[in-house]
Amino acid sequence: MKNKITIIGAGFVGSTTAYSLIAANITEEIAIIDINKKLAISQVMDLQHSVPFWGYTKVKVGSYKDVSDSKIVIICCGANQKPGKSRLDLVKKNSAIIEDVAVQVFKNNPNVIVLMVTNPVDVLTYLTIKKFPKNKKRIIGTGTILDSARFRFLLGQYLNVNPQSVHAYIVGEHGDSEVPLWSTASIGNTLVRKFKQISPEIKKDIFQKAKNAAYAIIEGKQATYYAIAAGTTQIVESILFDKKRVLPISYYLEGEYGIKDVCLSLPVVLGRDGVIERLEIDIDAEEKRLLKESARKIKKVANSLSE
Ligand code: NAD
Repeated sequence: MKNKITIIGAGFVGSTTAYSLIAANITEEIAIIDINKKLAISQVMDLQHSVPFWGYTKVKVGSYKDVSDSKIVIICCGANQKPGKSRLDLVKKNSAIIEDVAVQVFKNNPNVIVLMVTNPVDVLTYLTIKKFPKNKKRIIGTGTILDSARFRFLLGQYLNVNPQSVHAYIVGEHGDSEVPLWSTASIGNTLVRKFKQISPEIKKDIFQKAKNAAYAIIEGKQATYYAIAAGTTQIVESILFDKKRVLPISYYLEGEYGIKDVCLSLPVVLGRDGVIERLEIDIDAEEKRLLKESARKIKKVANSLSE
């Protein structure tokens, strides 16, 4: 089976993700689906014209039939965040859209890996798993891969270290209750707290900037898409080529830190079959408390939909 990807949603995130995958030259074919057919046609034409510069990827306007021979379906359709509104505000509208989409996806390919990007990503990943419990391991969300990248970038900038050498995670909800793991943040294999004392004020500032980045970006240009497209490409690559990268993504928890029956982000080993290893890294008591609080918040929103 070829390395084919279907992307559902040809908006800011879907089209930029397609572009990022083309530039990475890691898929043979990308099919793009959108209810706005005109948009899908235009995006595909523009993307096709970038192919000669990057390598060889076949890009086309797709239908749900394309899911049948795709390895991964990336879901990024639905409403995006509006200025000043949180991701959780999108839940009613997007959960209805995603339910319809997921039914089509699994009807065409019961074994496909679904990568949720649409927000609120943790709640939508969870609701899709509840609807298709047999696919639990193959339904994941981009989660805090983006928030962690923002955190690593800001920490790297402050410490004057390449962010690729900053190993630091934001875990929990991809949203307002997310938790920065300061206790395990490291530069190479040296803990940040041993490398340099960072004052509580600076720590707070770095975390607030990471957490609230989407609000700031959306204020100026309606949407965020470059960084999430790059993060999504890294997840796709790790799955397609069984790279077994450790990445913080949203998945279904079954008792980690005493948390279960909810989707949120923790670092996991990601390979051909999706999540292949769960990591219960050492975190301190306060981080654990905040993580549990984040889980409760996500659960509350998910449960409110079935009431
Ligand atoms: P957008 O409005 O530009 O694109 C959404 C597209 O979905 C539109 O083209 C629309 O026609 C299409 N669509 C709507 N319903 C559909 C359906 N039933 N089937 C097929 N297509 C459908 O929005 P965007 O900026 O690309 O954002 C997309 C989603 O990604 C939003 O929910 C946003 O919040 C989310 N997002 C997530 C992250 C993350 O880190 N997880 C980051 C950025 C954006």
